[in-house]
Amino acid sequence: MGKFTVLSLGAGVQSTTILLMAIKGQLPKPDIAIFADTGAESQATYTHLAWLTKLAGENSIPVITVKHGDLMDDYLNAIELGTRFVTIPVHCVDKNGKKGMLRRQCTGEYKILPIRREIRRWLCVKPHERIPAGAIDFWVGISTDELRRLNGFRNDPKWLKPTFPLIQIKSMSRQDCLNWLAYHYSEIIVPRSSCVVCPFHSDMEWRDIYGTQDWETAVQYDDLIRTGTKSQRTQLYLHGSLKRLAITDLRTPEDFGQLVLPSFKFEKHNLFANIG
Ligand code: SF4
Repeated sequence: MGKFTVLSLGAGVQSTTILLMAIKGQLPKPDIAIFADTGAESQATYTHLAWLTKLAGENSIPVITVKHGDLMDDYLNAIELGTRFVTIPVHCVDKNGKKGMLRRQCTGEYKILPIRREIRRWLCVKPHERIPAGAIDFWVGISTDELRRLNGFRNDPKWLKPTFPLIQIKSMSRQDCLNWLAYHYSEIIVPRSSCVVCPFHSDMEWRDIYGTQDWETAVQYDDLIRTGTKSQRTQLYLHGSLKRLAITDLRTPEDFGQLVLPSFKFEKHNLFANIG
């Protein structure tokens, strides 16, 4: 088996930069790029992914989308029907009022495992067959300002060799990527890639989707997961304030001083900020 290069395509700023640099000949071309769809990506990500897939295909880099389940539907089914589930890192409060966060199992289930399975399928390797160590250069879009994320690759199987082109070849930060994208592809805006219901969203990220269909989806989901599954016996919230997302006050202290936001946008929040 020869050596292959596979790009893990999250379709955010960093992995988009890698793919577009490869298209422009500023990085070697990966053999394939794989996007793992959780089913809960933002509309902007799906639109961007469709554009990237077409452009990469025209430049001889196949982009494959894989999907294993649906992050939101699977959990809602678990609440309603008691089916198997994995948890996303939602904020929780137990019956004694103790606050916490559920374990993050979603990345492994919906992102990492589907990509590994797809690589095996693409290599035509049967489930029980061994792949030689280092057979795959596995490109991941981590930039120089995210070095702490490198620890997450220590336990990868030996046949996957994690490689970080933005660090090892280009020495680029996220801002460098944004600058590169603005220079070479000024016509596109690359969305942040994360699930619309991800509890890791900062207030700024929630505000970015406020009023959109993605916001409505997140608000609805937040209300539907409140009780968790039968086994969890806890109250769940997407926002760390442990309030309904629909009525969470997303203003930052700067907003009070600088009045940078149109006030009508947060009227609803002002009225109900202390309820819930
Ligand atoms: S973006 Fe958030 S919710 Fe989605 S897979 Fe990653 S950690 Fe889980």
